[in-house]
Amino acid sequence: MNEDLNSRVEALKAQWSKAPAKMLIGGEWRESQSGETFTTENPADGTILSEVAAAGQADIDAAVAAARKAFETGPWPQMKPDQRAKLLLNLADLMEKHGDELALIETLDVGRPIQFSRMIDVGGSVGQLRYNAGWATKITGETHEVSAPGEWLSYVLREPIGVCAQIVPWNFPLVMAVGKLAPALAAGCTIVLKPAEQTPLSTLRLGQLIQEAGIPEGVVNIVTGLGRTAGAALASHMDVDKVAFTGSTATGRAIIDASKTNFKRVQLELGGKSPTFIFADADLAKAIPAAAMGIFFNAGQVCAAGSRLFVAEEVADQVLEGIAGMAKALKVGHTLDPDTVIGPLVSESQLDRVTGYIQSGQAEGADVLVGGQRKDGEGWYVEPTVLVETEASMKVRKEEIFGPVLCAARFKAEEDVERLAAYGNETEFGLAASIYTSDITKAHKLARRLKAGSVRINGSPGVDPALPLGGYKASGWGRENGKAGIEAYTELKSVTVGLG
Ligand code: NAD
Repeated sequence: MNEDLNSRVEALKAQWSKAPAKMLIGGEWRESQSGETFTTENPADGTILSEVAAAGQADIDAAVAAARKAFETGPWPQMKPDQRAKLLLNLADLMEKHGDELALIETLDVGRPIQFSRMIDVGGSVGQLRYNAGWATKITGETHEVSAPGEWLSYVLREPIGVCAQIVPWNFPLVMAVGKLAPALAAGCTIVLKPAEQTPLSTLRLGQLIQEAGIPEGVVNIVTGLGRTAGAALASHMDVDKVAFTGSTATGRAIIDASKTNFKRVQLELGGKSPTFIFADADLAKAIPAAAMGIFFNAGQVCAAGSRLFVAEEVADQVLEGIAGMAKALKVGHTLDPDTVIGPLVSESQLDRVTGYIQSGQAEGADVLVGGQRKDGEGWYVEPTVLVETEASMKVRKEEIFGPVLCAARFKAEEDVERLAAYGNETEFGLAASIYTSDITKAHKLARRLKAGSVRINGSPGVDPALPLGGYKASGWGRENGKAGIEAYTELKSVTVGLG
């Protein structure tokens, strides 16, 4: 580690060790009312980074009340849209200005290698803010002709939903928080945001920048705490109008149940088990690294990770050897080493879960082509792993592992697009899919038949704020990003005026 990086890391650790990190409620930084805290750790070495306030019901009530006040009597929904846009742009500029610090916090708390966190976490967040700032001035209603006798004026208003709870997971805490905040703020909503208990630190720093950007108090409240207490209290709260959640399918189900208290709107971005198809006519020089990074990037802790590979028999050996070669060559190491490509899993429990899946795959008859073990030494590292000879009935082919584990299978030349689509659609999930072929007609036909929210043909541009993101089936409800993402934070109201 170079000297400058080392001193920046030490400065952050010294700051975190002083006192438990506080929550942002109604423009004030507060401890939890019970005084309870939890700890967050560096997954690269298991050391504790900070103590953090653990919100209970009373803190959630206070945060929701602050958001309600800012919505009903505060300046936010009434503020002119160009002013809201300006404040979002201010926040984007501040995030850019403090980008190195934010990236470092994310690397320490999440375990993302430093070479990625500036581009993905900070760059992605800034992109979300600037894209959604543009929408603030472009949210429109409609007018309609009605068929009833007489003369009428009828129009449809698009209004902000109100107080929104946003519950974020640990794999991309900053960019997922901002990706949820930005459209909600552009639409005029107020927010109570809860980061995951494993990774709260970048979101708390974001809270300071939100204040510095001039976003009024109470518009964004940040509560830290455990899912089963703070998260559940938010999801069931009677005064929350909408809950937006990204995380596991099991928690998504709990949120649907909790939301029934007051029929709050629910938006869910859940798990995936996304297929990658590589045909014999694909440009393998492009397809092999893409398939490898599609599952090994972020140690596989990506909802849209390409975790199932279907490869044409004619090129299967070459493709699998290529991916195995990359698995061995990619640097697995300390997150602050600028050459590290694969970092640790977020926690010891996640490590146990992933290694448990690898063992279950072997027990059910899959072979380990490469990897398969926990990496020796400190931190929660698992070797990039390829399981071959996998079958649709195996747990590793059906369930989301959320680790660097690729489940591969071969298909035969005579298997048509319908058959391949059935492989793609064989799980309960439907988040994403990738296709590599030089036959563009075949690619489009397969894309149409796949039940997946995002289909990528011959490459992926990554998450773009303009493109709807979300899933079919058990991968979620609704779409984030793009026009759909803004509209998801609005209610429609039809107004009719009798002119006769
Ligand atoms: P999780 O779904 O339990 O946690 C995500 C967020 O939900 C966290 O902020 C958590 O505090 C909160 N939460 C937990 N229980 C809650 C409840 N009852 N009510 C309201 N909020 C609650 O995810 P996890 O347990 O940390 O991870 C388990 C698995 O989830 C992973 O292995 C992976 O398969 C999946 N996951 C998916 C994504 C994704 O991007 N789709 C992200 C993280 C985890």
